[in-house]
Amino acid sequence: MKESNGTLLADAARRGADYLEGLRRKAVYPRDADVERLRAALDGDLPADSTPDAEVLRFLDEYGSPATVASAGGRYFGFVTGGALPATVAAHVLATAWDQNAFSFTSSPAAALFDETAIRWLRELFGLPAESSGSFVVGASAANFAGLAAARHAVLARAGWNVEEQGLRGAPEVTMMVGAEVHATINKLAPLLGIGRAHLVRVPVDGQGRMRADRLPGIRGPTILVIQAGNVNSGAFDPARELVAQAHAGGAWVHVDGAFGLWAAASERRAHLMDGFAGADSWATDAHKWLNVPYDCGISFVRDEDALRAAMSISADYLLLGKHRDAIDITIDGSRRARSFDVWAALRSLGRRGLAELVDRNCDQAAWLAQELSAAGIEVLNEVALNQVVVAFGSDEQTLRVILELQEARACWCGGTRWHGRQAMRISVSSWATTQDDMTITRNAILAAAGTRRT
Ligand SMILES: *Cc1c(COP(=O)(O)O)cnc(C)c1O
Repeated sequence: MKESNGTLLADAARRGADYLEGLRRKAVYPRDADVERLRAALDGDLPADSTPDAEVLRFLDEYGSPATVASAGGRYFGFVTGGALPATVAAHVLATAWDQNAFSFTSSPAAALFDETAIRWLRELFGLPAESSGSFVVGASAANFAGLAAARHAVLARAGWNVEEQGLRGAPEVTMMVGAEVHATINKLAPLLGIGRAHLVRVPVDGQGRMRADRLPGIRGPTILVIQAGNVNSGAFDPARELVAQAHAGGAWVHVDGAFGLWAAASERRAHLMDGFAGADSWATDAHKWLNVPYDCGISFVRDEDALRAAMSISADYLLLGKHRDAIDITIDGSRRARSFDVWAALRSLGRRGLAELVDRNCDQAAWLAQELSAAGIEVLNEVALNQVVVAFGSDEQTLRVILELQEARACWCGGTRWHGRQAMRISVSSWATTQDDMTITRNAILAAAGTRRT
């Protein structure tokens, strides 16, 4: 016999709440001993007999919790990582109980309706064209894929070629242009779309990693231009207005990778960075980054829904689709969870002002830290216009040592990168949970790690 859901869920909620409350005191990165303890505890064969559910949950908490990375807390600055707003964690728990399959209106009318509203709100927030289609996907990688697949369809259709029917054998060549500092996901996705990495046309960038509009090659034939709202290191935005105008004049499709940068549109003080991006044809972003919803949650927008449908739609007799707008026709997924429950909860909980405040607060925190580090003689390599800070501590070896020292201390977590030929440390401030207190602790930890290397 299994326990009642009520007891178990209450236990899970209590354990989750205790975990989050204890996060401030937890090592930001798990200690090796805690990871090894988990590894040892998990080492065993699938048990022949059942285990009481309460015991299963206890195991997860006892061995799993200490081995987690405290990215839900306020001092995790690796990659671009949001936390999860309280309303979204709660919504996620409820939605898990609902266990809706969000692939179509028929499979879950509730999911389809939350999808619709969340997408409408986001489209308005980002200032994207009213006709553009939006859908929830696993992350910005999948959102980039959706936009690029729609793009491939459209540019080939204009050349009289149906790529979904004919494939690429004998097809007109598709040119994909990207910035020299394009995100790694595009390098991964291009070959999946039949465009080898060696054939990507890499457009030179400026000192902040922005694509140079004056260096955009002439456009001939079916062409996709990928631009960035938010360079993954510097946070810099490509000059979209000029790039979109040039690309469109040549008949190209413009796709925007705005995994975290698109959220700048939420802030009046940062919205200027988004100038011209709404003129593009498709956009990819992440909600699990700056909107601070639980993993996994990306969003894809495509202006021409017909192009997206041509690339993604499905037909099978048992699906009986068509009467409604079904997610399965505009994403690569079939069965999937309803990510819009969390996204709607985040937007409803914050409101426009709350979201603007979150974006501005993180940007101000990044600027504060950059200034503090710079005042202490540490080299800040980027213009801190958004939430990203890139710093170096002398030579590559010294910088690497400081990063390892800082990570070892576990008061905060920052990752490394190579930028413009140098080893650097990246600090990405993207969490609702980060307080000024967290920033002060982080500054002190960085200065201590930088100081240690000198002695
Ligand atoms: C994070 C990121 C991606 C990939 O997003 P996932 O959610 O990890 O799939 C793509 N582009 C940029 C600029 C990013 O920051």
